[in-house]
Amino acid sequence: MDFRFSEAEEKLRSEVRQFLQEHMPELDPVDRVGSIGGLVVSENAFEKAMAFNKKLAERGWIAPGWPKEYGGLGATIYEQMVFNEEFGYAGPPDTGTRVLGVGLLGPTLIVHGTEEQKREHLSGITSAEVIWCQGFSEPSAGSDLASLQTRAVRDGDDYIISGQKSWTSEAHHADWMFLLARTDPDAPKHKGISFFVLDMKTPGITVQPMIHMANRHHFNDVFFDNVRVPKEALVGEENRGWYVGMTLLDFERSGIIGFASQRRTLETMLDHLRGSPQRIREKYRLGLAELMIDNHVGRCLSYRIGDMQAKGQTPSHEGSAMKVFQSDLLQRMANFGVKMLGLAGQLLPEEPKAPYDGEMPESYMIAVPATIYAGSNEIQRNIIATRGLGLPRG
Ligand SMILES: Cc1cc2nc3c(=O)[nH]c(=O)nc-3n(C[C@H](O)[C@H](O)[C@H](O)COP(=O)(O)OP(=O)(O)OC[C@H]3O[C@@H](n4cnc5c(N)ncnc54)[C@H](O)[C@@H]3O)c2cc1C
Repeated sequence: MDFRFSEAEEKLRSEVRQFLQEHMPELDPVDRVGSIGGLVVSENAFEKAMAFNKKLAERGWIAPGWPKEYGGLGATIYEQMVFNEEFGYAGPPDTGTRVLGVGLLGPTLIVHGTEEQKREHLSGITSAEVIWCQGFSEPSAGSDLASLQTRAVRDGDDYIISGQKSWTSEAHHADWMFLLARTDPDAPKHKGISFFVLDMKTPGITVQPMIHMANRHHFNDVFFDNVRVPKEALVGEENRGWYVGMTLLDFERSGIIGFASQRRTLETMLDHLRGSPQRIREKYRLGLAELMIDNHVGRCLSYRIGDMQAKGQTPSHEGSAMKVFQSDLLQRMANFGVKMLGLAGQLLPEEPKAPYDGEMPESYMIAVPATIYAGSNEIQRNIIATRGLGLPRG
């Protein structure tokens, strides 16, 4: 394994870094709302995030990994890693587009969409104009997603959708949703599900905010009351939506974005400790060293996944190990940061005297769900046990 990037990749890195330095908007700390692999911002800063994404779009940088025919740059896995590492470190805002539209919906349509669906939806993503949300989870269907109960019933040339989705990130900003709904309640649970795309302005949709523990609006409950969508809203075959929804393309998914973002926070902690009295330095220096080692290990886990992808291999339990390690480290870092800052470490971004704009206590709260979303850590450990270690289920 060679950890060095090529000269051309390093040149790209400098270009991306310089662009971010020049164009990344200043954000008020209270406008940081959460993270889904990119910084999600409040209502106040939403226009700034949108304007920033449009600048990326002008350069073809919204979805660099997508094929050129669909508005990407056809970037290699290593080039995508360069983009993601620089974006992770700098922490620019996002509207949800770069994760939900680029990372999830786009690849699904590229593989399973009709030509008309691709034409209608992909350019809206790469131009950063159309925002998508993901309607998979429900109040009783999270880890066991195939238990979902939202129904889609065929009615002539339409489907009628009824039910509820939960934890829907950015539904309050989204123009469109991709969702899974049950089309055959009598089939075995993975086999009676279909994948749809729908316009959030369709009558019968209600978006209800859920405010999280950091008192910000990031996700929502979404209710469907006899929502009528045309049959063209179906992606792939009816009742095959489970397999459509699980599509993963060979776009970079090494997790480097998260470890790069952690590195920036650790560097802030290091600066703080350097300027602290000796007794504080002595108390925390070993703890910080340990976190920095772990972050470096995480970076290597990501490089390994990227390297596998570049060689055409499909990471499986390696991705699970990275996710468990990254989310656990995020929580340990946030815990450490709050303690190291002492009493002032509890001051939130709203407080003018909050050290580092309240980043540490805010991260402490925002880090809590990191071990839950994108497949909870228990589910990831199950994958490591079965696929990685070859242990039998249960
Ligand atoms: C910040 C955030 C954003 C989200 N955004 C979205 C979104 O945009 N769209 C969307 O569709 N969903 C979204 N989700 C939902 C997310 O996918 C679910 O929270 C996740 O799948 C877990 O489901 P659950 O919350 O129902 O927990 P449950 O599945 O009920 O799990 C509860 C606990 O039981 C454990 N558990 C469950 N099954 C097993 C098992 N077999 N073995 C061992 N332990 C088990 C879990 O690990 C967890 O600790 C988001 C969640 C969060 C926290």
